[in-house]
Amino acid sequence: MILAKKVRIKPTPEQEQCLWRSAGATRWTYNWTLARQEENYRNGGKFIQDGELRKELTKLKYTEEYTWLNEVSAQTTNQAVKDACDAYKRMFKGQARKPKFKSRKRSKPAFYSRCDQFKAKGSAVYLEKIGWLQTSELFPKVDKYSNPRVSFDGKYWYVAVGVEQETEKPELTGEVIGIDVGVKELAVCSNGMVFKNVNKSAVLRKTEKRLRRLQRESSRKYEMNKEGNRFVKTCNIIKVEKSIRLLYQRITNIRNNHIHQATNAIAKTKPSAVVMEKLNVVGMMKNRHLSKAIAGQKLHEFARQVEYKCEKIGAKFVQADRWFPSSKLCSDCGQIKQHLKLSDRIYECDCGLKIDRDMNAAINLSRLAA
Ligand SMILES: [Zn+2]
Repeated sequence: MILAKKVRIKPTPEQEQCLWRSAGATRWTYNWTLARQEENYRNGGKFIQDGELRKELTKLKYTEEYTWLNEVSAQTTNQAVKDACDAYKRMFKGQARKPKFKSRKRSKPAFYSRCDQFKAKGSAVYLEKIGWLQTSELFPKVDKYSNPRVSFDGKYWYVAVGVEQETEKPELTGEVIGIDVGVKELAVCSNGMVFKNVNKSAVLRKTEKRLRRLQRESSRKYEMNKEGNRFVKTCNIIKVEKSIRLLYQRITNIRNNHIHQATNAIAKTKPSAVVMEKLNVVGMMKNRHLSKAIAGQKLHEFARQVEYKCEKIGAKFVQADRWFPSSKLCSDCGQIKQHLKLSDRIYECDCGLKIDRDMNAAINLSRLAA
């Protein structure tokens, strides 16, 4: 099974320069590729294959203006061409929107590192043209690595790589767990486990409050230092904006950590099967009362983790049809309650069943694994 391993790296100042150069060249190449495709498309041309664009890029590297591209690995820029072409292909297939240019300010610095040169030893990894880098933890040593990617999250650099791992398959308990995900709680499981919505936790509320205060502070500073119609960026604004970036990063980390802990706890009970509803996040986002609450929940990421952690222990992962009436069905007598409002937190049936709404749904889901 291939698992992604992401570890923080600790570059020396010289190495960090190399990392920035690689990320910059990747961004430039990605944008260059998109521009070439767009220009070609406007002139009535068909999609240019990435091999052709790579050849064009190599020629460009011999011209004086672009010699700086030779400072980074050729495979790094070639992969950027391929990534941009793939994004373009996804748009043609209708799977994605038109790819956007990566701006210096908004895009995440990241690049591909040559795979067959990637090595790991103890707590160090080797990247082509950059050398050995210290990692913050032991790096798994395996025969084959795939798709090494380096990225920067605003504070630290990371390397993420696919690692082929033999996973030990534990003995399963035979239990089937149904999971109902939602807005009030992140997840309610039919075995009684409940995972809270992290956005309602004290630590996240406090962090978001601090974030809002800093955002107000920065916009106030912009207003104060306005020269005529022009906004001016002062040293103080740069300082505040850096704090804002770090707070965003902290919020992301808290959310990711919460989801990992929840999915780990589910996998730890060693169920034989897990049933979840197919998520319709796009549909849920259309409800403007719910959209903000859902955006921060990362429900897709939760489902993705449950699925791969099931695979890891050899448990079956079942997805219920979107139209399965998990909430409306009585888990005791099987009647369907037609008029169930979102505000009805307790499910009450004519047969006398009185149960938490989400728990009722989770029990119904758990019966689908047969
Ligand atoms: Zn009933």
